[in-house]
Amino acid sequence: MNAITAPETRVLTQNPLLDFADLPLFDGIRPEHVQPAIEALLDRANAALETVTADPFPSEWRQMAQVLDVATERLGRAWGAVSHLNAVADTPELRAAFNAALPLVTEFWTRLGADERLYAKYKAMDPAALTPEQAQAHRNAIRGFVLGGAELQGAAKERFAAIQERQAELSQKFSENALDASDAYAYYATADELDGVPDDVKAATRAAAEADGKAGHKITLKLPCYLPVMQFGRDRALRERLYRAYATRASDQAVGDAAKFDNTALIREILALRQEEAELLGYPDFATVSLVPKMADSPEQVVIFLRELAAKARPYAQKDQDDMRTFAAAHLDLTEPQAWDWPYIGEQLRQVRYAYSEQEVKPYFTAPKVLQGLFHIIETLFDVRIRPDQAPVWHPGVQFFCIERHGHGMGDGAAQRVGQFYLDPGARNGKRGGAWMDDVRARWLRPDNGQLQTPVAHLVCNFAEGVNGKPPLLTHDDVITLFHEFGHGLHHMLTQVNERDVSGISGVEWDAVELPSQFMENFCWEWDVLKHMTAHVDTGEPLPRELFDKMLAAKNFQTGLQTLRQIEFALFDMLLHSAQAPRHADGVDFMGLLQQVRDEVAVIQPPAYNRMAHTFSHIFAGGYAAGYYSYKWAEVLSADAYAAFEEAAQTTGTTLDPATGRRYREAVLEVGGSRPAMASFKAFRGREPSIDALLRHQGMA
Ligand code: ZN
Repeated sequence: MNAITAPETRVLTQNPLLDFADLPLFDGIRPEHVQPAIEALLDRANAALETVTADPFPSEWRQMAQVLDVATERLGRAWGAVSHLNAVADTPELRAAFNAALPLVTEFWTRLGADERLYAKYKAMDPAALTPEQAQAHRNAIRGFVLGGAELQGAAKERFAAIQERQAELSQKFSENALDASDAYAYYATADELDGVPDDVKAATRAAAEADGKAGHKITLKLPCYLPVMQFGRDRALRERLYRAYATRASDQAVGDAAKFDNTALIREILALRQEEAELLGYPDFATVSLVPKMADSPEQVVIFLRELAAKARPYAQKDQDDMRTFAAAHLDLTEPQAWDWPYIGEQLRQVRYAYSEQEVKPYFTAPKVLQGLFHIIETLFDVRIRPDQAPVWHPGVQFFCIERHGHGMGDGAAQRVGQFYLDPGARNGKRGGAWMDDVRARWLRPDNGQLQTPVAHLVCNFAEGVNGKPPLLTHDDVITLFHEFGHGLHHMLTQVNERDVSGISGVEWDAVELPSQFMENFCWEWDVLKHMTAHVDTGEPLPRELFDKMLAAKNFQTGLQTLRQIEFALFDMLLHSAQAPRHADGVDFMGLLQQVRDEVAVIQPPAYNRMAHTFSHIFAGGYAAGYYSYKWAEVLSADAYAAFEEAAQTTGTTLDPATGRRYREAVLEVGGSRPAMASFKAFRGREPSIDALLRHQGMA
């Protein structure tokens, strides 16, 4: 390892990325700091790895953490600061510095996760010498190594590595085909064919045709074009033409030149490799492997869950479809609706029955009032105070807060810091879109100095700025997003776990991590809570009840059909990766399986040429293989957790019930990843999750 020479030390001590005394020095970090800081921290992390994996070093949790975890945590925090700035305050110089360092950082984490000497050290540890939190972190670490092939030897090990590499290539090619197939399609429509399509879409498609030197309107399969044409376009032939092109993308059914993007062979190879990988690891199928680090126990449990939900949703989906049929016959002169008619009928029906304008809602949701309401909920439920705090920031619009709890039975009532967070609410140039929570540092009883490090979080949104000196106005979707991200933030910041790798959201099962975030969204649909969070920007009046009722009705429009569609995808995904998947000479008969699942679940059967699987990137090119169910799974958990607050309201009169809030905080938020999510859920609800609350919240009860 590089010895750090004296002059280098002098330079490095002035580098704000190497200052770990407290909060990141966001106002002083410059692009030129990135490379020297990250290289120095990588050198130290590599040196730490060599130290702890050397023969004489003891296989002892605390001693290893003092050397290795301290070094990797510094690398993680510095890189976290750079990544954060890259996301919220992008400049060409910073982007270049970020991109130059990224491969080095990625390479280190990959190597660390596959280091066999490190695995041997962890394996040699005496589990009896670990605290319960350390034991959980230790089990997670061992599991990660084993699923990464660390137990394999010789030819099996080589084959495992080759499978990983080939899968990465195939996934990449799958995405490229899906994208290229979409991009390759264009149809130049006449103005008449676009009857009913919104004016902004007409203008954009006209401009696109002009750019190609063509007459008419260029219609593509990209969603901002495809969706409005399918929802609003009155020309049935155009909808059918477009539907067929969309539904056959990247498949054997694609017409003409687009056939070269067929994903059929890739799907077969990916599935075969996943099965082989599972067998190498000693499991019956890939579905079982996928569930090892997740909350769900087995593929059978997930399949039973999905089928139960499908059975409950089906009558509502049937009713949704019947409503559309009746409406289409009476008002649209459509008697035999086809696949390309349903989005159109659905949109026309929605407009007639549930239309309200987002512009009507927005003036009631002023940013300061919403934030005040959110803080009030958190303070009431979780026995904390949120107050403004000071920290170096990257933009004047960024706010910084401290979460405190006042001592109980300690006489002086001194406030104790629980955590801190940055709130960066506004959209601006150089800031990535969307909303997210990220950690700045985790709660950790530091092994190097014995001090308790409190957690710090980023909460980032992209709300529009206020105009004419008025406060920013949020859409109701913005409000839901804010609550969602705060749910993740509370999970990170209210933790009482002292072990870094299982504190807050660290170590939480992937299919349970959205529980606290989706849980918070429920308050945005609670009239007694919401009315206190609204004040018209001009009059100060709260949101009118009639408007809220319209919003609620629109929220539950066609939830039956939407639920069945998600279950169709989830059930197909889980069965596809299980040993029971039907097979023929070419491997897994995935089209046969898809038809079987549709026969079982769907109320609307697509045409035989539909090839949804060929662009199902979540499972063939994303991280959702045998994991798509987790969307519904987490919705059930969060709805059922929230139902405890609704039950409390029946006696206390409000969902903002401090006693229930305390139980939720202690059972779910505080324990973070230190125990299985199912154990936390049961500790809170006294039983396993039930689907009833979700069905009720979505109007299916
Ligand atoms: Zn989330």
